Amino acid sequence: MNLQSYVGGHWHSGRGQGVAMRDATTGEEIATASSAGIDFAAVLAHARDVGGPALRELTFHQRAALLRTLGKRLADIKSEFYTLSYRTGATMNDALIDIDGGIGTVFAFAGKGARELPNAHVYLDGGVEGLSKGGSFVGQHLYVSREGAAVHINAFNFPVWGMLEKLAPAILAGVPAIVKPATATAYLTELVVRRIIESKILPEGSLQLVCGSLGDLFDHLNCQDTVSFTGSAHTAARLRVHPTIIRHAVPFIAETDSLNSSILGADAAPGTPEFDLFIKEVVREMTVKAGQKCTAIRKALVPAAVAGDVMAALQAAASKIVVGDPRAEGVRMGPLVSQEQRTDVLARLAELQREAELVAGNPRKFDLKDADAERGAFVPPLLLLCRQPQAARAIHEVEAFGPVATVMAYADTTEAIALARRSAGSLAASVFSADDSLAARIVLGLAPYHGRILVVNRTCAKESTGHGSPLAPLIHGGPGRAGGGEEMGGIRGVLHYMQRTAVQGSPDTITAIGGRWVRGSRLLDPGRHPFRIPFSELKLGDTLKSKDREVTVADIEQFAALTGDNFYAHMSETEAKRNPLFGGRVAHGYFLISAAAGLFVDPDYGPVLGNYGLDELRFVKPVKPGDRIKVRLTCAAKSLRAEKGWGEVAWDTEITNQNEETVASYQVLTMVSTQAVPDSPGKN
Ligand code: NAP
Repeated sequence: MNLQSYVGGHWHSGRGQGVAMRDATTGEEIATASSAGIDFAAVLAHARDVGGPALRELTFHQRAALLRTLGKRLADIKSEFYTLSYRTGATMNDALIDIDGGIGTVFAFAGKGARELPNAHVYLDGGVEGLSKGGSFVGQHLYVSREGAAVHINAFNFPVWGMLEKLAPAILAGVPAIVKPATATAYLTELVVRRIIESKILPEGSLQLVCGSLGDLFDHLNCQDTVSFTGSAHTAARLRVHPTIIRHAVPFIAETDSLNSSILGADAAPGTPEFDLFIKEVVREMTVKAGQKCTAIRKALVPAAVAGDVMAALQAAASKIVVGDPRAEGVRMGPLVSQEQRTDVLARLAELQREAELVAGNPRKFDLKDADAERGAFVPPLLLLCRQPQAARAIHEVEAFGPVATVMAYADTTEAIALARRSAGSLAASVFSADDSLAARIVLGLAPYHGRILVVNRTCAKESTGHGSPLAPLIHGGPGRAGGGEEMGGIRGVLHYMQRTAVQGSPDTITAIGGRWVRGSRLLDPGRHPFRIPFSELKLGDTLKSKDREVTVADIEQFAALTGDNFYAHMSETEAKRNPLFGGRVAHGYFLISAAAGLFVDPDYGPVLGNYGLDELRFVKPVKPGDRIKVRLTCAAKSLRAEKGWGEVAWDTEITNQNEETVASYQVLTMVSTQAVPDSPGKN
């Protein structure tokens, strides 16, 4: 029976006999996939006309809240996903990476969206750029949601994580997704999408699913759409030159093949923790998901002097891996996803064997637990040794997408770096070394060719997330063969679905567009102290101008006595005179911001609940005894935390002296109640 797609607000059974999906262990048919009969222009139109507007109505915080609710729902029902996941060949450990890893990514984006994005629709990129002498003409970069669809084409190996790690940033960006899972494991993605749709947590049109081929969808893409692809370099190369992608300059993000290296540092001799950690990691990377991981270690680079020890340790560790039915007790590695994948891996192995000898594992003869070698797509861990890595080609270029890794010995660190770079762009590399200067040299040598580099030593090993785990806050992607794309990386991953625009105009115009008051804009007199105004009534530009006060020697000495800060520039006229910046005694910078608070606060109980920090603090000009300072405090940015009953307000703050020169500049960050607070009895 054909799996259903979810398009245009309905579940759709593709016409005709679809492509079969089989249980990786038993070979039994699970379902078929066909998208025949789907109107792909209508799918895109549904995303653009229904999903996009609904998402763009919401602020970043509201979208983040949807993701949090979605994450909770999926976590509550995940056991159903584990059960089906076994059919992909995944062990429980593999399922945790895919399913819990995916749900964790949704929570990570929910958290980042709530903390790092404003409760608004526009995201400002950097500060205001002054473009004129008089200050009446300025520039600001900002991001808005693109008004098309995010087309997500996923690989078979992580049917849940692969879908969610792309979906979460798109939703946060306000862009609806059309998900096309790889056919081999589409049944698991379909189950998760079905549960998401049933939950009605996401607005209609923000998530559609296509099981089977994408038909003529690419023909209907336009400049507002984004394609994010994960799969082979071969498919990526075909899709990125589609005439519509080129004609409309549709952003095409690609995560493709990668031959990833792990380097054992020259310091990490047998017996050191780093040596043992390296052995463990290489075997783990070979066997997790049966090596079907784009980030898996394919090249293990080891100092020539210890190559024999490394081989012996790896052979011993690999021989302990129990291969079999992933549901069976004690099985560490399940089958590959399909017989086709097995055929492909064995063909790639044959290519590698022209340059490297197989030193562990025999694909024709190995033990299996509770499984049939004929029906299941099994291969054992396969370890190769290449004796001439400089002269070889295939070991640097051919990716066997299974439990396959090649050990190669290097003579010195320069050679190790050169061998890792031979794969012409990779997703991830790791370095096992306790020598930080050696690690720094290797990392900087690898960095131009890698998207992510992990350094493991005895200090961080226990908490390290491992070589092969992409993490929501860090970028996932890599140059060259790895596809040249980037995903995740926290808010960076959200911005891929948004358009950056440089806006120029007067400060007041930029304030109105960006939703953040910029210097040079009108100062408003609210007619009362701004600290007495509840969040909802505060307007950008509401300003307090304080009275002034003199800064005296007594102030400086009392502040020094109170805090213990007796730095010579504050305390000794003679020493301060020798200081080329000051040429005489100056007030403490921290005294100035404290004195400024004394000038601007309203002392009575009121809507301002607390101050949670200062941003962008700069001491611009020294203040000397006898100078007179005053403060301007302007409401510059507001972000509502509706569920908490308050909003964050950033106050643009400037301290000036008697000559109207700025002496300090900063943002005061406060939490302001949404409720008007009645004055205390006896106050007016
Ligand atoms: P693939 O054959 O390139 O397929 C990837 C995706 O592209 C699948 O969803 C596939 O759908 C779809 N696809 C194929 N032809 C298409 C077309 N003409 N138009 C639209 N979509 C098309 O890759 P795979 O064999 O499934 O995956 C294994 C490869 O992916 C490995 O090489 C691995 O390195 C790479 N990978 C990379 C990453 C990464 O993050 N860099 C992650 C995982 C895997 P069907 O399944 O329906 O053909």
